Order: sequence, then structure tokens, then C-alpha cells
Amino acid sequence: MSALADLDRRVADCRACPRLVEWREEVARTKRAAFADWTYWGRAVPGFGPADAKLLIIGLAPAAHGANRTGRMFTGDRSGDVLYRALYDVGLASRPTAVSADDGLTLRGVRITSPVHCAPPENKPTPAERDTCRPWLVEELRLLRPTVRAAVVLGAFGWQAALPAFAAAGWDIPRPRPPFGHATRVRLAGLDLFGCFHVSQRNTFTGKLTPEMLRDVLREAAGAAGLPTEG
Ligand code: SF4
Repeated sequence: MSALADLDRRVADCRACPRLVEWREEVARTKRAAFADWTYWGRAVPGFGPADAKLLIIGLAPAAHGANRTGRMFTGDRSGDVLYRALYDVGLASRPTAVSADDGLTLRGVRITSPVHCAPPENKPTPAERDTCRPWLVEELRLLRPTVRAAVVLGAFGWQAALPAFAAAGWDIPRPRPPFGHATRVRLAGLDLFGCFHVSQRNTFTGKLTPEMLRDVLREAAGAAGLPTEG
């Protein structure tokens, strides 16, 4: 088993945050009517994508009836519909939809993870939960360090959570820390960090983040990572 696969297995078994463990399991028991015939994952959701990824996408936390149901990052919810469609459109995903962990979708040189691995109530992890989960992201970053050359961080929460993790994994982060912004690009030694509005329904329904804006950031980040794109 690769070191990253071993990390993913250990993440899935994590029970370090009592409130989140209770919530993810409660949601998995009660379900949403539309998914009544699903066996929910109901555990921490590990990162998704190859161990030699050049581009890392960092979200916020799994959705209660999305990744907490399917067991794969951004899979089975509206945010994921937008993200995977855009990844497919620029040539970084093998198919435009992500519906279940066994749907055959693969990512090309891209890995998707989050600073909090368990679904939080109202999509809001506490600062303490974010800090408790950080060592998982730090370990993932250390394992990806030989290949990763760019990262796209979705939203301000992810940005605030990710920067200390990058620092702990060995990258020099400027002080004061660069603020989050859409299409912000921060050049670190050996890695370019991009900000992007989160693919949340609130942002995509209101047009704050359009598919074109998302594709533009993904294309620029892929270029920085040395990944070919299409479209
Ligand atoms: S949020 Fe992170 S640290 Fe907390 S239980 Fe889930 S995987 Fe463990």
C-alpha cells in the first residue's frame, strides 16, 4: 500500500472530533428521503486523486448528503457537479459527472482534498475542529510535495486553514499572510497557490462564481503545475 493510500485509510477511521463524528453518523442514519436506499459512508472522507498529483484542489469540508453519503470528495452534490464539470471541461477529469465512488471517474494529475474531512453541521466546522484536522492535511502535503506544483484553494475558510498547513509541511509562507481573493496567485518556492471562490450553491446560483471563472482558475493553475489542458 502506498503511503498516501495508508493515509487515506487512517483518515477514514478518524474519530478525533466528537461533534463531527456524532453529526456524520446521525446524518448517515437518518438520510435524506431522496437517498433512502443508499448506505451512507458516514465517516471521514479522505482525499481523492493520484499519489503523484501535480495540482491539488482544497475545499472546505464534505457535504452531509454529498461526500458523507458517497465517501468521495465533492461527489454527489451540487458543488461537486460544478467542480467536476469544470475539471472535465478543461481536460483534468475523465467524465463530467461524479455520482458515486464506483462511477469510474478518474482525475488527471489532480487530487482533491479538504482541511476538514468530516461533514459539519451547517457546513461550518469550528476553529478547534479545523485545527484538530490540520495534521491530516499537513501529512498529505508532505507526501505530495515531490510532485505537487500548484494548489487551488476554494474559499476563504479553506485559505485560512490551508496556509498554516503548507507552512507546517515545509513551504515558506510570506508574512503577513497573503489575503484570500478570487484568482489570487501566490508564488511560493516550487508551488503556486491560487485562490478561487468556493463552488458552493450560494456562490454558483448567484453568479458570484461562474463556470467560466472556475475554468479560468483551473486552467491557470494547471498551467503552473505543468498539466496540459483542453477547451
Ligand atoms: S474532522 Fe478531521 S480530525 Fe475531526 S474527526 Fe474528522 S477526520 Fe478526524
